Amino acid sequence: MIRVQSVAPDSIGAELGIVPGTELLAINGRALEDFLDWEFLTADDRFVLAARLAPGEEIEFDIERPEGTPMGVTLEPPRIRRCGNHCDFCFVDGNPRGLRTPLYIRDDDYRLSFRYGNFATLTNLKSWDLERIVEYRLSPLYVSVHATDPTIRRWLLRNPEAPDIVPQLRWFGERGIAFHAQIVLVPGVNDGAQLERTLADLYGIGPAILSVSVVPVALTEFSKRELVREPTRDECRSALAAVDRAASRALAQRGIPWCYGADDLYLQAHAPLPAAEWYGDFDQRENGVGSVRYLETRIASAADRLPELGGKRIGVVTGTAMGSLLPQVLTGLATATGGHFELIVVENTLFGSSVTTAGLLPAAAIERALLTRCERQGKGGLGLDFALLPAEAVNDDLAFMDDVPADELAARLPVPAYLSYDFADVLSELGSGNAQVGTDEHGSALPVPRSAFEAGQG
Ligand code: SF4
Repeated sequence: MIRVQSVAPDSIGAELGIVPGTELLAINGRALEDFLDWEFLTADDRFVLAARLAPGEEIEFDIERPEGTPMGVTLEPPRIRRCGNHCDFCFVDGNPRGLRTPLYIRDDDYRLSFRYGNFATLTNLKSWDLERIVEYRLSPLYVSVHATDPTIRRWLLRNPEAPDIVPQLRWFGERGIAFHAQIVLVPGVNDGAQLERTLADLYGIGPAILSVSVVPVALTEFSKRELVREPTRDECRSALAAVDRAASRALAQRGIPWCYGADDLYLQAHAPLPAAEWYGDFDQRENGVGSVRYLETRIASAADRLPELGGKRIGVVTGTAMGSLLPQVLTGLATATGGHFELIVVENTLFGSSVTTAGLLPAAAIERALLTRCERQGKGGLGLDFALLPAEAVNDDLAFMDDVPADELAARLPVPAYLSYDFADVLSELGSGNAQVGTDEHGSALPVPRSAFEAGQG
């Protein structure tokens, strides 16, 4: 059974009398368990829906609708599948106390992997899930492999029950399911010969493995540092060499690099990033793979929509990871717009300075950085016209990691501020005179509202 959260007015759902709280029981006699059942079983234009409108009032609707007309029904969020692993490097253990409850949930849910690109380990699949993934063709999925040696993988996941991943991926591959895989690099455990073996095993599975990324383990000051450490520069270099070997072979045999190092791996190895073309469709950019080049590509493709900024001063807030990479991006942006972009690199005061990604910056650290910057202005420095804040630092409810709503932060800032994923989004909206509306490259609303917020001060 799944429950309705809201119903669009004038929709088919509303015409049927479906209201928030209605329980959707079955389609064509098949019980509904979650949003996947709802989406796949209602894909036809004709079906029978069994629903409970009120306690004791069960009803069947024989629905025939014009092709492609949505039902207009939004479901309550699914109950997330919890993770049964206990990785030493788990990001949940790395969270400080006092954050929002959802930040302490260890999810390991193939449904979210299919829908949102979350990485799952596939260690908690029941036979029913296997059938479902194949029946609904939930592909591609994003899988955390880490190591293909079963013993090493079980050790990394701290799960003695974790199934052997290679046969599992092969089984899915034979049934048409493809994967993007990641290897979180834990020095002394799955690097060196283990990394070579993992890459070779995954490559040997064939086209079902669409891409593999190698990501250096990320820890905070709250992580189990007595059990796991970050890789050194030499260890990152050695991992990059393994990535390069795998990529050279794939390029020669399959025409794509297939194996990618995360931007962080290059950063920590002090090695230059590959060119944008290397990353193809940037399949793992949400995993920090090719993010910098993706940003440059987005800016270049928006060049004709960018406004003339005529010497305006724009503060660009980011985490320390991008501090050394963003100047090259901002130089291009300044040339295209005539604006002056000032990088404001913010250290993470919530998780500790070892957490460098902009996506985990708390509002308090951003506020402090911008206030400090503006104090300089009072001492003869030049003022900012507005600031761009990392949109990936807020959740769907537009709240930062420290639970501060974006508009609350905006009201406290001394300059107008906009949430932005790639600068081009906000700047082109400003150019069109509409900074409140954000759409992605397909012209549809983004899943995370990135619409700008403006303080109206400063
Ligand atoms: S798989 Fe490991 S890192 Fe991911 S949620 Fe589970 S314990 Fe944490």
